[in-house]
Amino acid sequence: MPAATPRSTVRAACPHDCPDTCALLVTVEAGRVVKVQGDPAHPPTHGALCTKVSRYPERTYHPERVLRPLRRVGPKGSGRFEPVSWAAALADIAARLKAIAARDPQAIVPYSYAGTMGLLQGESMAARFFHRLGASLLDRTICSSAGGEALAATYGGKLGMHLAHYADSQLILIWGSNSIASNLHFWTFAQQAKRKGAKLVCIDPRKTETADKCHQHIALLPGTDGALALGLMRELVLNDWLDHDYIARHVEGWPALRERAMAWTPERTAEVCGITPDEVRQLARDYGTTKPAAIRLNYGMQRVHGGGSAVRLVAILPCLVGAWRHPAGGMLLSASSWFKRFRDDVALQRPELLGARRPRTVNMVTIGDDLLREASPGFGPKIEALVVYNSNPVAVAPESPKVVQGFAREDLFTVVLEQFMTDTADHADYVLPATTQLEHLDVHASYGHTYVMFNEPAIPPLGQAKPNTQIFRELAAAMGFDEACFRDDDETLARAALREIDFEALRRDGWLKLPLPDAPFADGGFATPSGKCVIDAPGLGVPDFVPNHESALSAPGLARRYPLAMISPPARNFLNSSFVNVASLRDIEGEPLVEIHEADALPRGIVDGATVRLFNDRGSYLCKARLSTRARPGVVNALGIWWRKLGLEGRNVNELTHQRLTDIGRAPSFYDCLVEVAPATAAT
Ligand code: SF4
Repeated sequence: MPAATPRSTVRAACPHDCPDTCALLVTVEAGRVVKVQGDPAHPPTHGALCTKVSRYPERTYHPERVLRPLRRVGPKGSGRFEPVSWAAALADIAARLKAIAARDPQAIVPYSYAGTMGLLQGESMAARFFHRLGASLLDRTICSSAGGEALAATYGGKLGMHLAHYADSQLILIWGSNSIASNLHFWTFAQQAKRKGAKLVCIDPRKTETADKCHQHIALLPGTDGALALGLMRELVLNDWLDHDYIARHVEGWPALRERAMAWTPERTAEVCGITPDEVRQLARDYGTTKPAAIRLNYGMQRVHGGGSAVRLVAILPCLVGAWRHPAGGMLLSASSWFKRFRDDVALQRPELLGARRPRTVNMVTIGDDLLREASPGFGPKIEALVVYNSNPVAVAPESPKVVQGFAREDLFTVVLEQFMTDTADHADYVLPATTQLEHLDVHASYGHTYVMFNEPAIPPLGQAKPNTQIFRELAAAMGFDEACFRDDDETLARAALREIDFEALRRDGWLKLPLPDAPFADGGFATPSGKCVIDAPGLGVPDFVPNHESALSAPGLARRYPLAMISPPARNFLNSSFVNVASLRDIEGEPLVEIHEADALPRGIVDGATVRLFNDRGSYLCKARLSTRARPGVVNALGIWWRKLGLEGRNVNELTHQRLTDIGRAPSFYDCLVEVAPATAAT
């Protein structure tokens, strides 16, 4: 803990689920944080933060912070609680969990994701606790596992270009990414490239703020990215824009994919993607003839049925044109596997505490269905307890009507570690006050750059809040877990988390660049067993276009009843469901809204600013309509993710989404959702 001085600056790291993992400089005056700035010396951050995190003091000192343990006194979901001491809360929680564990510990399910990306306050002491308990394992799939597993099948890991090299690219395809809103520090490098003459092409169903600033926007239909990649491949073949030498030496399985791609004429591709044949031809020409060409793919495009296959197909493109030969060519979806050599998750999470037990795995995407399941041989025991941390499933999990019904079960024992009374906390039996990033120690990897980050606590915990690590330490003690690993303090955990890293230098400087080659696959060397880019992957075969679960191609009857495709990208000033309760940010967003093109709005009698109802067979959601060319005809953009209790009728957009999974990675398909929209007054 830094010595308390009248004014000091503490090095920290942004914990949020964003590829940029910014280095922060936190100014503390008389024990209070007065300013949070970007570190100008950290190359990816270069002194700039997004609006969200530059308001961090407002979030930390928010009058609605949960600062004492709370015990439910009203019905589930009513949000009525009374303060209780830590000792009483921990004793009762331990007693309840022990009673359930005595029957079957798998009836207890942890539920967590990337509310913090920190290695310590994420899955360290928490993982040890649940391993020791023998609780169900959680398949943490809600965001990126379709793309992540697709990359692993193709490149051998979540590996890609270095962020800074985009500044030297001559062509950048910004594919499925509203970079200005959700990858701001990549955008800085893209702008540098633009100033040096590069062409920027945005491929996204929504005409985002990023699309506004690119040279070209290709507004394809949601879930058709794989078809576009196949159409591009055909043009690359026919025009001989391939790097035959690179393919021969570093790609395996191309002939079968080549044959498949030849069926994707520009006309067929255009029809499936909802674009023009000329857009396909021109994009292929740009990509095949410009060097170095780079792709910045982001996770939005893989939240559809065929998301995994689409990522595989896009990831093959840089290999076909030899883009990887240059540091400024290639692709980045995630850089997180670059950290694999430097982090020790086994030391941190202690899976050996499971012993010989092999608990079942619950997929976090299907928590709605799973909370409503009875015990069965296939499912195992009914879920009797949930311990939620770093996540807000009642707001963010798909198909909320079922999620809410599950969380409202009076026989479900729910403990929520939280900073605020979220929709999920409202459904808890106990809410345990958790610290923010400014109040605890952590270390971070990144999925958008290749620097390890250190987060020094800037201030002591507010009120009675505790770091997640400390809460699980104390819970372990209350359960009677006496293994020495439950007494490791946070610094011990931080040292255990990293290897081949100069810990003292990292702590002193706040960040440390990984020693990696500039052009990682210039001469092949992918992390696959063969060292090659793999097309015909074991168990997956050769990738193909996979249509959406809900589309005219796969479900024509459904598409007649619900003719509009809905995507639900994050509002610019929110980060998933984080920051929705920060008044100054919520004021910028205004209110929940759906962007709709006038070609869809006018025939339905919808005018700009009208309250409309979005609906399908799963539910309905009320919000304001914004007539806008940000929406293409046939697609509506319902911006998320609002807290349910701050939305009209106490609902959010996940009222409409479903729990069906992606083709690879068992992930959600949030952006694969058909709806109809009507003025709110119409009977629906
Ligand atoms: S949310 Fe992203 S851009 Fe904003 S400060 Fe955090 S890492 Fe940086």
